[in-house]
Amino acid sequence: MNRSRRVAVVAHCLLNMNSKVEGLATCPGVHPILGELADRDYGLLQLPCPELTMLGLKRWGQTFEQYDTPFFRAHCARLVADVAAQVSEYVRCGYEIGPVVGVQGSPSCGVTQTMSGAWGGEYDDDRMRQIRSRRERVDGAGVFFRELAERLEPYGVAFTWVDDREPDGGIARIAGVLEGGL
Ligand code: SF4
Repeated sequence: MNRSRRVAVVAHCLLNMNSKVEGLATCPGVHPILGELADRDYGLLQLPCPELTMLGLKRWGQTFEQYDTPFFRAHCARLVADVAAQVSEYVRCGYEIGPVVGVQGSPSCGVTQTMSGAWGGEYDDDRMRQIRSRRERVDGAGVFFRELAERLEPYGVAFTWVDDREPDGGIARIAGVLEGGL
């Protein structure tokens, strides 16, 4: 059988919601956007989850400011290096790469919006009140996707995102993008 020679690059948790911070899964297992990609014969390159591979499954929900450290950026750069090598090989062999699908609002995988908050410290009552009042979505990509966009820039790959603030999570918007061509 002929292969499609089309590969979408998707955030890790879209294939495996079990990797997300406890309480943030938007479906039990696989995000429905992957059905849209499968229906159009895309193969999937699953990105690594930078937070899971740094802090594990019992991590708290954090903010861009907490992840924007030399240590986490170096971790992201290591993960992205392997992804970029895979992309370059597909491109070298004439495959179509993209879209890259991120998770809007994530401190790591947000594409044009991330989560901001000047947090840190022990979780006493005062700090919990501060946390609830001082976390907000702001414009800008997450730490991992900044690194990813920089490394994939030479290949002209299109980026898009799922967004739990859209009624359908962004499925109709992404389907429209796929139908219209990348
Ligand atoms: S870091 Fe990225 S891949 Fe991991 S759970 Fe968050 S949005 Fe998903």
